Amino acid sequence: MNLRRAVVLAGWWVIPVLAWAQQPSDMKPVTDRLAASIYTGPSMATLGELTDNVGGRLTGSPAYVRSTEWAAAKFRSYGIENVRLEPFKIEAGWQRGTATGSMLAPLPRPLNVASLGWGPPTPPGGVHGTVAIVADVAPEVLRSREAELRGKIVFLDASKIYAEGYGKAMPKIQAAWLAFQKAGVLAVIMSDRERNNVLNAHGVGWGAKLLPLPGVEVGMEDSKMIQRDLERGPVTIQLTIDNKTSGETTVNNVVAEIRGSERPDEWILIGAHLDSWDFGTGAQDNGTGAISVLEIGRALMALGKAPRRSIRLALWGGEEEGLLGSYAYTQTHKDELDKCVAVLNTDNGAGHPKGWKVEGRDDLKKAMQPWSDGLLKDLNGGDLSSDTTYDTDHGPFMLYGIPALDLWVDMTHYGEIHHKSSDTLDKVDSLDFKGGEVIVAVTAYAIAQSEAPIAPHIDHAAVGEIIKKAKLEDMLVNVGVWKP
Ligand SMILES: [Zn+2]
Repeated sequence: MNLRRAVVLAGWWVIPVLAWAQQPSDMKPVTDRLAASIYTGPSMATLGELTDNVGGRLTGSPAYVRSTEWAAAKFRSYGIENVRLEPFKIEAGWQRGTATGSMLAPLPRPLNVASLGWGPPTPPGGVHGTVAIVADVAPEVLRSREAELRGKIVFLDASKIYAEGYGKAMPKIQAAWLAFQKAGVLAVIMSDRERNNVLNAHGVGWGAKLLPLPGVEVGMEDSKMIQRDLERGPVTIQLTIDNKTSGETTVNNVVAEIRGSERPDEWILIGAHLDSWDFGTGAQDNGTGAISVLEIGRALMALGKAPRRSIRLALWGGEEEGLLGSYAYTQTHKDELDKCVAVLNTDNGAGHPKGWKVEGRDDLKKAMQPWSDGLLKDLNGGDLSSDTTYDTDHGPFMLYGIPALDLWVDMTHYGEIHHKSSDTLDKVDSLDFKGGEVIVAVTAYAIAQSEAPIAPHIDHAAVGEIIKKAKLEDMLVNVGVWKP
């Protein structure tokens, strides 16, 4: 080893030593101010403005547009100067109208139905026809049933197909819808999976793409009755759906930036989706996440001095249709992703905070441990989970090897409101909600202020290992965001 090389290597060692020398306790005076500002701040009132005044925020809808303008104005009101609406395109716009359904025979009675997301309207006057169950969507089976299915309403019993996993099921279901269209099927019905005829706002597939045929979900008990009746004889159903559809539609993400005081070119991103399904008012999916991003912006500005690195605050559109806004951001900002030090995402409801999901990265877990122990534990957020998911907006960044963390909260009661008309403000516990906000704010500040980056970017092969281990590869390849 020559002397020059030895000096260079010594230089590499100095940086981590300095980084370790920096203790979480050094940052505590500032993170305590952040926490106090959020706990005593207006999160609940701001959430009320979004959920009760703007309402449900389906991507591309007038309410979504209002929410982006409202959020941009909020950022500006906190004194943040770099606030932008960043456009991306979705394949089709869709707005829910009314949907009614009834059984005409054997027993005339109304059915609990809701249109599937991005389903077209029925012709005026609706459609009525006898019901045919399809449980096997193998192409040869559907070909052999083509004549039989013409003029019918198909009851697509997808439970077995979905049981093999979303990634494998999705292309089969999509191909089946096209086969139904080709056969001259009138409409498709699918059973909701929850008791008491509760309806969830569901879509089919990935991306804001119009379905080839009108489709509804039917309450679970109503669906079971249809299935029982079909064992005895023919069942006739009437469906009327008046959704509005449009062509390619521009949607905006809202992005604000607080420039770093020492290394403004390096940035960390705090994100959450602003859009919601249209049932309920999207209070915990994902009003609470969106308000967190706004509130952390307010609390950081109130500190009076920005941390070393820049902090970008992003509110995404199109999450519910397949993480479309965050994915679009990774494409538009591809050239500067190497300067992204970390991404923090919030989108699991406002349950009691636990900590962070490190999305399969053992190195990130190890790097986070001192901060979790030193700053987050006392705030109910010191735990770390290795779970890897591609179900919300940390996903697109994770695929680029960026350290991407998803806020981990107690989700015991999340299923009771998720995508339902009951996802409203009254279910939000203020202390749990603010507790989660504080975990994100403190972590963001620590990473932005820390001497060394929290963890390196990992390469494509290393990302591939993680998603393979998490059994996500089929799905990611099918939706077109990953090439092994
Ligand atoms: Zn969500």
